[in-house]
Amino acid sequence: MAVKRQPNKTPISEQDPKVRIHNFNEVALGYTPEEAMQEAQRCITCPTKPCVSGCPVHIDIPTFIKHIKEGDFQGAIDTIKLYNNLPAVCGRVCPQENQCEAQCVVAKIPGFEPVAIGRLERFVADWEAEHGELKLPEIKEKKGKKVAVVGAGPSGLTAAADLAKLGYDVTIFEAFHKAGGVLVYGIPEFRLPKKIVEREVEYIKRLGVKIETNVVVGKTIPVDEILKEYDAIFIGVGAGAPKFIGIPGTNLNGVYSASEFLTRVNLMKAYKFPEYDTPITIGKKVAVVGAGNTAMDAARTALRVGAEKVMIVYRRTEKEMPARLEEYHHAVEEGIEFHWLRQPVEYVGDENGHVIGIKCAVMELGEPDADGRRRPKPTGEYEFIEADMIIEAIGQQAQRILLDEFPQLKRNKKGYIEADLETGATSVKGVFAGGDIVTGAATVIEAMGAGKKAAKAIDRYLSGEWNPWE
Ligand SMILES: Cc1cc2nc3c(=O)[nH]c(=O)nc-3n(C[C@H](O)[C@H](O)[C@H](O)COP(=O)(O)OP(=O)(O)OC[C@H]3O[C@@H](n4cnc5c(N)ncnc54)[C@H](O)[C@@H]3O)c2cc1C
Ligand code: SF4
Repeated sequence: MAVKRQPNKTPISEQDPKVRIHNFNEVALGYTPEEAMQEAQRCITCPTKPCVSGCPVHIDIPTFIKHIKEGDFQGAIDTIKLYNNLPAVCGRVCPQENQCEAQCVVAKIPGFEPVAIGRLERFVADWEAEHGELKLPEIKEKKGKKVAVVGAGPSGLTAAADLAKLGYDVTIFEAFHKAGGVLVYGIPEFRLPKKIVEREVEYIKRLGVKIETNVVVGKTIPVDEILKEYDAIFIGVGAGAPKFIGIPGTNLNGVYSASEFLTRVNLMKAYKFPEYDTPITIGKKVAVVGAGNTAMDAARTALRVGAEKVMIVYRRTEKEMPARLEEYHHAVEEGIEFHWLRQPVEYVGDENGHVIGIKCAVMELGEPDADGRRRPKPTGEYEFIEADMIIEAIGQQAQRILLDEFPQLKRNKKGYIEADLETGATSVKGVFAGGDIVTGAATVIEAMGAGKKAAKAIDRYLSGEWNPWE
């Protein structure tokens, strides 16, 4: 008998917006087993499986969903883990709407939404944490070779896990006191609870990976020492350095970079002050400049730490904004105000040097630029937006501490490491790189994909099969 498919994704329950703006608990609550099995029925297990090519780490999506359909949740998570070491993270933060779900054939039927692949991935990862046994994969015989990984973000953690499975002795050096990279210092608790990242990091440690925190390579350990001691190096230091527009008034009190604001709140737990030692001053009217994921995170965080009004100021429109759709919808539900087509040209201060607002040029959209988004151009009009705190979230740039100590490593014009995108090989023998420090700010799963490719290449290099520097 033909199964009648529901056109829409099975809804996921969420905290009420009125309640959640006063806490840091996770917004989406996840599927129940029944809801997951119901959603899995929407997948038609199509033989061409285009969703798999939309996934940067090529998870066998139809097979894991088939296991869910059959109620075999352990089988589902085992399938995912063959490809992805951080499924509970990816199920929560991947931009599925541009990746696997964008390719799903179900969405080609008029009026149908794609299969909720991300929600299903999250469900099985959480199910495993609650019920399943945390199974370790096969770990190959020790190879007697040492690999250093610099940076414990998604790219470094993935490269380290895959290399440990292949039998290498892997040590990660991480500058912060916690592993996770942006997953712990950038993405807030209400979107990605820290205990989930800790659980995934614990799994990687159980594969045999050593993690040394509070070590800044290029400062606390010289790069040369690592080059001497290890057979190969993977650099995954990310693009966490803040970037400012550089307009007059940037030095006024009350103007922050999103990186600093989010790190203080997330990693240093300022939202739990005085239980934790990090204080935070929050404005009554907060304006966040930019409309990417970082901007949405900063705006929603400001609301939760006590701002009365939070605004997003963006020079283009809703259509061009880079944020994930889900984050934008959540921000709208939570009452964030959006000021489209406004380009800050000056931050205005009072006589005490504290910011009181932004002078904005009113923009309109012109011709598309190189990435296809319509370019904003000034109309000649100006508008003043009152704000006693400004958070700039216009993107990040290369993290340079290590790079400045490593001049032999070739960089491109934007300051990112020049590395082969298929292998991660850099200009220096035995040194590989991947993630945001190569591509510029991108996504968690792309950084993981780069870590995976580099792990494979490092294995081939250390086994003597391949040497791009000869
Ligand atoms: C606020 C925010 C929200 C985001 N939201 C999303 C999202 O929803 N979905 C998504 O897919 N992507 C999102 N991204 C992007 C995504 O997080 C990044 O693309 C990804 O984390 C890059 O991984 P990475 O391993 O290259 O670097 P990172 O995650 O930046 O990790 C780099 C690590 O290297 C360490 N390090 C740096 N220098 C040194 C040194 N010299 N010695 C030792 N350690 C060092 C850093 O402390 C850090 O832990 C977001 C980014 C931000 C900032
Ligand atoms: S494209 Fe959609 S329907 Fe086809 S296998 Fe992937 S998830 Fe299932």
